[in-house]
Amino acid sequence: MTQPTAPATGPSSATAGIPAAPSSNVSASVPALRVRDLRKTYDNKVQALKGVSLDVAEGDFFALLGPNGAGKSTMIGIVSSLVNLSEGAVEIFGTDLIRHRDQAMRLIGLVPQELNFNMFEKPLDILVNYAGFYGVPRAVALVRAEEELKRAQLWEKANMMSRTLSGGMKRRLMIARAMMTRPRLLILDEPTAGVDIEIRRGMWKTLREINAAGTTIILTTHYLEEAEHLCRNLAIIDQGRIVQQGPMKTLLAMLDVEGFLFDIDGTLPAALPSIEGVTMLASDDHTLDVDMPRAMDLNRIFAALGQAGIRVRSMRTKSNRLEELFVRMINQPIDSSAASTETAA
Ligand code: ADP
Ligand code: MG
Repeated sequence: MTQPTAPATGPSSATAGIPAAPSSNVSASVPALRVRDLRKTYDNKVQALKGVSLDVAEGDFFALLGPNGAGKSTMIGIVSSLVNLSEGAVEIFGTDLIRHRDQAMRLIGLVPQELNFNMFEKPLDILVNYAGFYGVPRAVALVRAEEELKRAQLWEKANMMSRTLSGGMKRRLMIARAMMTRPRLLILDEPTAGVDIEIRRGMWKTLREINAAGTTIILTTHYLEEAEHLCRNLAIIDQGRIVQQGPMKTLLAMLDVEGFLFDIDGTLPAALPSIEGVTMLASDDHTLDVDMPRAMDLNRIFAALGQAGIRVRSMRTKSNRLEELFVRMINQPIDSSAASTETAA
């Protein structure tokens, strides 16, 4: 794995002009991350990113949400300098990643998906040694390690063999380690993939505290619920492209719709009944795809179908919320300016 070189411990000249004190408010000035038309084609010709652009404001808690293979890790890999980009530009707090790689890397803390610390070391040593690798003096590192282990609720375990920690503790240790260099931007790649809900909640708490203390956070996830619980803003990525981005609130409003598939007896007529607030589409001659507001009574749908001579043989809900969301987004992308007007009204 490529490692960024050791950072200086003093304030970097590249960040002059940006307030040194972290702000918990999302600032409009220099974004924590700016990505422009990012493309990545791997040696095997797989196009993992096909022109991705996004901004993450300082102080934000941002999710990059998408199914497996969407390109999330590729994106995180490029931003954290582990993967070379094919085309495009990346800036971290205004510092160009290609031209000033080391400076840019000093601003980032990365939590990879896989546990990658030495299980035979103690948490305290893992943190202090990591900081040392990045040029943090030992005395400073010891103070920070205590702070981080306490925040991660691991202080009592500081001198135990890491191997003996529970799964949740090991994951929190990964986060504590990344915080040792005091990154302004913390990036996590699927931090909770495959862990149970209790562990997930523990990590969410830690991450919220880190964000509240001023660190910008970007995480990738394929759990809509995770993005929903943590993030203020998100981008949904699918097959190397961003299919939607904006405030979590706006996206959730779109989810106040429930989707059903009706299997129909016989063949659907060309003219389908029209009900206000309901979208009906024939997915084929015998299947009706219906999106309706959650609050609406299903009987209204059945009544209208009955009147039109359409008999429902069986029905099922459209299963995966996230998939449903993707489909709706690809079919009817919302205009972000229209969305913000809506929120303001
Ligand atoms: P995600 O993290 O969203 O699951 P990835 O960024 O890992 O997605 O993968 C995006 C696409 O790029 C996938 O088709 C994957 O198979 C491919 N890919 C990822 N890493 C490599 C690699 N090192 N070499 C070739 N193809 C890769
Ligand atoms: Mg991944």
